[in-house]
Order: sequence, then structure tokens, then C-alpha cells
Amino acid sequence: MPTDFSGKSCPYCGSTDQQSFLAEERMLGKGDKFSYLECLSCGSLHISKVPENLGDYYPKSYYSFQELQFSNPLFRWLKRLRMSIFGTFGIFSPIYGYWLKKLRPSRNARIADVGCGNGQLLYELYCGGFQNLEGYDPFIAKEVRISSGLSLFPTEFEKAVGNFDLIMMHHAFEHMEDPKKVLTTCWEKLNPGGKLLLRLPVADSQVWKEKGNLWVQLDAPRHLTIPSVKGLQHLGEKIGLKLDELEFDSNEFQFWGTELYERGEKLDSGNIDSVFSKPELSEMQKKALRFNQEGIGDQACFYFSKPLKS
Ligand SMILES: [Zn+2]
Repeated sequence: MPTDFSGKSCPYCGSTDQQSFLAEERMLGKGDKFSYLECLSCGSLHISKVPENLGDYYPKSYYSFQELQFSNPLFRWLKRLRMSIFGTFGIFSPIYGYWLKKLRPSRNARIADVGCGNGQLLYELYCGGFQNLEGYDPFIAKEVRISSGLSLFPTEFEKAVGNFDLIMMHHAFEHMEDPKKVLTTCWEKLNPGGKLLLRLPVADSQVWKEKGNLWVQLDAPRHLTIPSVKGLQHLGEKIGLKLDELEFDSNEFQFWGTELYERGEKLDSGNIDSVFSKPELSEMQKKALRFNQEGIGDQACFYFSKPLKS
């Protein structure tokens, strides 16, 4: 039964002081409207009622379901070499290097990617030399064992057996309806001292404040919940997770995606270079970096850990 949040308190801070607003499905251009609640205490956002037909809003072409791209043996060797140099000298960073270098998991750390989609990120880590990787995503078709060190499971993370050294969610948390349940499951499945990386859109976004329901990462109705930094930190700490660090990692998408919606267009990243000029996109990249430094970008990385003694 989908969750009905209407009439309840903020799932992050517990405040009942909330106001509702309407958000429109814009990515596919369906135009259906959904009621959301904004917490007036911590600023977090969540959908009032999860639609029964939520699956209809995930098209087959949704990015998570693209086919996993395998590397040939030469590229795998190069990726391992690069990871080794990156681990030692901090140069030749892969695109995900900025969060990996903060977490510094060992090569045999047990790592889960929750909401792993096609498992591409885990595959890249596997090529880089990590040996104990598992992906969980109820929307993948079947269990895939890519090697003895990398498996993908078509199930909820709750069903995972045993504990992990690192749990990651890359833009998956906001698609799940019960933040408290998700964080509690992570806490339970982390080894003491284990780490939880959450990357997700945040309601601290300046674009959200300026453009309201045109904000591209509001993404109704797929994004069921978008916490503020304050809200997510509060809930995490209540469960027993410590927020070690916060890093904004928003990019130019917040500007061009929102501008497309302002123009009444659908989201189509395929032709973005024909809609915006190179200087325009470069300006947006610079603005995103500035927003990140100021803590008003539209997405962030939360580096939580489970204390050794809890
Ligand atoms: Zn709140």
C-alpha cells in the first residue's frame, strides 16, 4: 500500500508545520499534477501521497535501465592502473573520484550500491580492483553475477544478508518513500565504523527557491522525498548515524533543465547542445561551482558513518 503522508508530520524533523504545493510531471511532458508538502521548519519536501501507478512514470528508456557497458581486457587493465595511481598519488581521478577519495574503502571492503540500476558504477569499481561489490535494485529484471566479486540482486536492500563496510545511494534515496525506514535499514546493515554515502537533490537549492515547481530535480512524481541538509542530518543523527562531511556536487543540469521547463519543453538531454551554446553551458558550469561553494547547489553528498560504539 503506497504511503500517504498527508496530514502527517515531516518525516525528517517531525514538525507538523507544513504547507502543500502542486508539482507537475514535466520530464515526459505528461502534465499530471501531484500534491507535495514543504516542511516550514526544516525545509524538506515530500509527496503527499505516493501514486498507485508510479511505475507508469518510469519509461523503459529511463537511465537506470540502459544496458551495462562492459570494458574489454585492455580497458579493464587501464582502469585498474588508473585506480592504483589515483589511490596512491590522487591524480588521474575517475569522475567519481571526489567521493571515493573521501571514503577510501579498502579493495576488499564489502560495498553495496542501493538502487544500483544497471550496475555500471559497481562495474567501474570492479574494473578498478574492488572485489566485494553488491548492487540492489528491485527494478532490475533478474539476478546478475558478473564475477565472483560483483553481483546485482533484483531485491530491496532490506533482504541483503550480513553487514557492509560501505553503503552507497547515488540518486536513489529520493525515489524511496520512507526516509526513516531507509536510513534505519542502512544503520542496521553497516558494520561499526562503516560508512554511508548518500548523493541526492536537496531542498536547500537556490533554483528551488527561485523557480519553485519548475525546478528540474523536483521531478514529480518520481522524486518522492527531497530533504534539506538540516532535515536529513537531523533524521540521520536520530537513527545513530554521524554526519562526517557534506559536499555539494550540483552541476549545470539544474540550470538548463529548469530553463527547458520554463520554456514549456520536455527534458531531452539528447539535443541539449543544440538548445544552449557552448558559452552558455560553460557559464552554467561556473555558476554551479559557485553555488556548491555557497551551499545552495541543488544536490549534495552526505558522508555518514556508524560510530564504532553505538
Ligand atoms: Zn521538517
